Amino acid sequence: MGENKLQHEGGCLCGATRYTLHSEPTYSGNCHCRSCQRAIGAGMVTWVGVKPENFEVNRGEISYCETSPGVQRGFCGRCGTSLTYGGDDWTDIGITAASLDNPSIAKPESNVYLDHKQSWILIDESLRQYDQLP
Ligand SMILES: [Zn+2]
Ligand SMILES: [Zn+2]
Repeated sequence: MGENKLQHEGGCLCGATRYTLHSEPTYSGNCHCRSCQRAIGAGMVTWVGVKPENFEVNRGEISYCETSPGVQRGFCGRCGTSLTYGGDDWTDIGITAASLDNPSIAKPESNVYLDHKQSWILIDESLRQYDQLP
């Protein structure tokens, strides 16, 4: 039962940016908001949460863009992979679940911003559902 068991690594597609989560994710949820759709270029994005003190960038650096007032989206400045979401109102950093080396540990438990959901996205009705944020 070493500490390593709680550690999860991930990074961008080109390998220039690598990070480590020093804990299990605090949550995992699918966001259907229009901002995420456009930022990621997909119908939705699965975010996992991590406390800032448990998030470490091990290689390269994350580039940030303020995509809405008070919202910083982080990405690899070389290949553009979306990596993080941080907001003034958020205590946890959001990490794109798919950028984890092992995304299977990040099964989502909820869907948020279903108000913005695309008609061609199918919802697992067994997950918690929110029209906006809970
Ligand atoms: Zn990259
Ligand atoms: Zn979103």
